[in-house]
Amino acid sequence: MPFQVLTAAALPAYLATLPPMQERFTDFEALDVAEVGDGNVNFVFLVTQRGAPERTVCVKQAVPYLRCVGESWPLTRHRMDVEVRALREFGALCPQHVPAVYAADSEMSLVVMQRLCNHRILRLGLIDGLVYPRMSDHISTYLARTLFFTSDLYLAPDAKKAAVAGASNPELCRITEDLVFTHPYDDSPTNAYPPGLPPRAIERLQRNPPLRAAVGEMKYAFMTATEARLHGDLHTGSVMANAEETFVIDPEFSFYGPMGFDVGAFIANLFLAYVAQEHRQRDAGRDPAPYREWLLQSAVETWEGFERKFLALWREHEADGTGFIGRDLDGESAEVFRAAFMRHVFADTLGFAACKMMRRIVGLAKVADIAGITDVAARTLAEVRALRIAEHLILSRHAFGSIGAVVAAVERLG
Ligand code: ADP
Ligand code: MG
Ligand code: MG
Ligand code: MG
Repeated sequence: MPFQVLTAAALPAYLATLPPMQERFTDFEALDVAEVGDGNVNFVFLVTQRGAPERTVCVKQAVPYLRCVGESWPLTRHRMDVEVRALREFGALCPQHVPAVYAADSEMSLVVMQRLCNHRILRLGLIDGLVYPRMSDHISTYLARTLFFTSDLYLAPDAKKAAVAGASNPELCRITEDLVFTHPYDDSPTNAYPPGLPPRAIERLQRNPPLRAAVGEMKYAFMTATEARLHGDLHTGSVMANAEETFVIDPEFSFYGPMGFDVGAFIANLFLAYVAQEHRQRDAGRDPAPYREWLLQSAVETWEGFERKFLALWREHEADGTGFIGRDLDGESAEVFRAAFMRHVFADTLGFAACKMMRRIVGLAKVADIAGITDVAARTLAEVRALRIAEHLILSRHAFGSIGAVVAAVERLG
């Protein structure tokens, strides 16, 4: 079918044309469709057969513009091809943490996937102060597996280079290059300065040569490193979870980039939640300390779990002779290289986390954790703390010896 923007009303007849849907649904006349796209970019529909709640799918369609802005911000709808490929590749590596793809239609820029029925967007749960006991274990597994198995540490050199070429995503990378690494530090018209943020807090970002040089280094790494296939937008709004399960959705920004960008994105959002929860917990009549402690502990467990699982995969595949170093070097040099590699990914993680935090305060797109605080003084305090944490993380990213030292600094500054 040639491309057309689908409506809820047109969806059942369209789904009836897709062969895989013949098994999923028995009565296309009885489909209830709800449009739920709370995201900024695309259209998302939940489709359920009346009287058969287990017969349900999620349909996501990309349109040739940015949904939240409209047709004045054109954006390739072929981002859906990237998303489908990433969902399939990440799903093969981590089926328990990625929604299954049931059908994909490149002409229509659309995917039909597993509907996550009992899961909620993680950011919304964190805003409500919910504890997710398995979150950091699951996210660290997802990060270790997706980043290791798509890297040169695992793939054969020719396969890796072909994978990089096949995953190019220049238009969406450009959005990140502009909105995360350029505009916030430039007084760009796309920036959205929060109502209470003092001008001197903005100047600390925009008239600060060491900080801008450090951001330049992170931008250069983002643009040139091809370490692994990244999700590319791994904030807490791209995770759907409950107490038992965790799924990573929305990989339309996927490309081959530096590993620390995904790890840092997730940890940045835990730190943003941390600064927001001082006020949110008090506002709900609770002592903020226990929940904030859980958020920081989750950042520790995410990094430490990622590092442990990633190194275990690396050693396992080194032993079977398929790895990067192979059998020709002795075990000691392999371990020295591994330790240096993890220090590099750790410094990148902190640098990228900082850029993600700064852009969420002064840039175009906000996080509801902070921007949803209606008390302006409380919101401003959270914003100033987020910027202070980010500045310290990026400037000292090579000096931190452990994630424990990082969260101690976050606790002191936030
Ligand atoms: P966008 O690219 O526009 O941000 P997302 O992929 O983040 O789109 O999806 C937007 C919203 O749709 C999510 O926040 C979530 O509420 C819902 N959603 C997305 N995928 C699923 C799914 N597989 N099952 C259930 N709901 C989903
Ligand atoms: Mg999204
Ligand atoms: Mg998004
Ligand atoms: Mg998206």
